[in-house]
Amino acid sequence: MSADRPVVSLEDVRIEFTKSQLFGLAQDERITAVNDVSLDIYENDVVALVGESGCGKTTLGKTAIGLNRPVGGSVEYRGQDVFETKDRSGIPSGLLGGGDFEHSFSEIRRSLQIIHQDPESSLDANDTVEGILAEPLKRWQPELDRRDRRERIYAFLDYVGMVPPKDFADRYPHEMSGGQQQRIALIRALLMEPDLILADEAISALDVSLRVDMMDLMIDLQEAVNTSYLFITHDISTARYMAERADGRIGVMYLGEIVEIGPVEEVTHNPQHPYTKALLWATPDMGSNEALGRTQRLEDAPLRRLDIPDLENPPSGCYFHTRCPEARTVCTEHAPKPTPVGETHEVSCFRARDDHDYWESEELSEDAEMEISDRR
Ligand code: SF4
Repeated sequence: MSADRPVVSLEDVRIEFTKSQLFGLAQDERITAVNDVSLDIYENDVVALVGESGCGKTTLGKTAIGLNRPVGGSVEYRGQDVFETKDRSGIPSGLLGGGDFEHSFSEIRRSLQIIHQDPESSLDANDTVEGILAEPLKRWQPELDRRDRRERIYAFLDYVGMVPPKDFADRYPHEMSGGQQQRIALIRALLMEPDLILADEAISALDVSLRVDMMDLMIDLQEAVNTSYLFITHDISTARYMAERADGRIGVMYLGEIVEIGPVEEVTHNPQHPYTKALLWATPDMGSNEALGRTQRLEDAPLRRLDIPDLENPPSGCYFHTRCPEARTVCTEHAPKPTPVGETHEVSCFRARDDHDYWESEELSEDAEMEISDRR
């Protein structure tokens, strides 16, 4: 996979928000939501991004599909800068700033789709299922006539088990369950023939019994239509199920950084980062509806502290040191960089290197931790 050219490539992406954007306040202090993150997503890839609420995973996901402009780093679609294309789209070739691109911005937007946590809010309440699903076909495949569109829509409805298709095609969004609405949102995204779908907590609002079905359906359809998923969740058992079904990767995010990423087997059976270990420790046997529905008890996990540091005032050195049971003095002074621990497995922790100064550094006592914390 790594030898292939990525469909989407993020390099050293930094996203900042002002306080006024986040809280509607007058101050314009900047808060870093995503901190120099690099991530490549390939054809037919699945990356399940997991982390606690507020860790920046949705912000990163929206950046990957061109909805958030980074203040630093770059986002490329098939080797072409997404935001440069956006800025220069509409300027005729030959004029200053204009240029010919292999991929137009509208093509990039079509290729990078999203399905949200709440499908009802993204479906037109005043249109029928057939009307909603016909829209992308009218726009992107104008050569299809009404009968062709209907045939395609009915085939998708049939595939996802919404039968008989005519019954569902005539319904309005409010006449369907949450699971059915999410299937319509998925079909709509797939009708764009996307290269990547950002599934942003797309199964979180579903009944536990429907979550596995929805993930199975997403994977089945991925194989049928050749797309990739950036699958965002706060639940590592869900991330694991999705990545395992697709032979994909898990990325673990903490305070705006991907602290560990790798093949699902590696990350779940050979976790390297203390935060990944804590997440897994708090997770029951996975792969069943029961497991997917159980409440995570990260508060019981082996952590120095429970409270998540404030993004406005992040810890010095390694952002995880205030909670890390393995933290040493060097961790309060320097930030670890992503370090390979396998062919496609990376971790941001000093412990990944046998020759790092970490091993000579003093262990961090509770008192030292409190002093550091008080000084901030
Ligand atoms: S660098 Fe230090 S504080 Fe950070 S995760 Fe590794 S051991 Fe813990």
